Amino acid sequence: MADTEKTCCSFCGAEKSPSVPLIAGTEGRICEACVTLAHKVVSSWGQRRKSQQLAPQLRTPAAYKQHLDESVIGQEAAKETLAVAVYNHYLRLLNCDREPICQLGEEVELEKSNILMAGPSGTGKTLLVRSLARILGVPFASADATTLTQAGYVGDDVDSIIARLLEAAGGDVQQAQWGIVYIDEVDKLAKRSGGGTAVRDISGEGVQQALLKMVEGTEVRIAKSGRRNEHSEEQVVDTRNVLFIAGGAFPGLEALVCSRLQPKSGGIGFHAQPPRQEQPSINELLAALLPDDLHEFGLIPEFIGRFPIITFLQELDHATLLRILTEPRNALVKQYKQLFAYQGVRLEITDAVLSHVADQALTRKTGARGLRAVLEAALQQTMFSMPSKPLLRGCTLDLVEGHLEVLETLAEEGDVEQADSRLLPEASPQQALMSVDL
Ligand code: ADP
Repeated sequence: MADTEKTCCSFCGAEKSPSVPLIAGTEGRICEACVTLAHKVVSSWGQRRKSQQLAPQLRTPAAYKQHLDESVIGQEAAKETLAVAVYNHYLRLLNCDREPICQLGEEVELEKSNILMAGPSGTGKTLLVRSLARILGVPFASADATTLTQAGYVGDDVDSIIARLLEAAGGDVQQAQWGIVYIDEVDKLAKRSGGGTAVRDISGEGVQQALLKMVEGTEVRIAKSGRRNEHSEEQVVDTRNVLFIAGGAFPGLEALVCSRLQPKSGGIGFHAQPPRQEQPSINELLAALLPDDLHEFGLIPEFIGRFPIITFLQELDHATLLRILTEPRNALVKQYKQLFAYQGVRLEITDAVLSHVADQALTRKTGARGLRAVLEAALQQTMFSMPSKPLLRGCTLDLVEGHLEVLETLAEEGDVEQADSRLLPEASPQQALMSVDL
């Protein structure tokens, strides 16, 4: 009789019962436990395929540098160091699933190499990292070390950086795990000396300690709702493969390197060495930077040890500032010309002005940031009045007796129709006329 024949799962052999229902196919049957197991297996294939799809397309370090050249002027050493470090990092990740190639007779595990960038403010540290993340197409998050505090205190704890990375990855954990995190102003985390032991340093050394684990590689739990409580769902991001880049101005670091290179001579009398007259330049001193100098500066050795690649950015000189004004893809002069062009006005800036702006930026000592401040001040008045001048067709920023002045070119009188379209390109003719009447 057919009734006496046992009906079993074709995969695990479990017998059909009220508690073990079976799904029947044309040839066999499957129980719930086997369906769940099969689902897990298939999802893991999906994830693996997805992570391979998410992996950035690896290009040569030379190609990375060439891309960086389009947006960052100068800083050749830093660009090369970053290009090589990023290439090696993603080469390691792309090959982590592969069988090891044992030329050395033993399995070699490659460690992550995070990067520390030292250099004056406004010299392109953030720009470099941002451009690099764009080229690679990986999620990117940047955080300011000064806003971080140890967990449990007022302020952001270090996990918030990974939450931001996950956000940049659109909530995709796999993608976030391939991302780049930039932590700016790490020099402000330097250990404060002379504070006394009674004062707990929750924002400086405390944050360095808190960052150690995350930089090395740990699992960070992030609540999906943004708030951690008993019921909220959590996402776990493994930071093992996240590339961390730290940056800081490290003011006074050159003095520390200088005192190491040129110890004060204690000699007196006829045999004492006369002090060296010429002082090495800041760029020479930064090139001679050693991890010990960073320790002297106030970073703890464990923290320095987790950033084995150290590079430095040079101070921007007059010639570089001039190039920054016009050459990069988003050069300031191009940006202002575009802004004026939206309003139908042609902007010209003379070479004398560019040189003057670079000079002014140098005196401000804020790197390339000073360029925008000077240009903004020079064009402020024009930008204020331009939308109310329908006949304005061209502006030339020129240097007149040492002062920046804007010379205006107006359209012929009676050219109102053209003026209307200049002012409000999207507006209807009636609207445009109204605005001219006003
Ligand atoms: P920081 O070194 O303080 O991180 P940023 O990278 O934020 O400096 O630079 C501030 C701005 O100055 C950038 O947005 C960019 O426009 C400009 N800038 C700085 N350095 C360079 C450079 N080397 N090449 C091109 N632009 C630069």
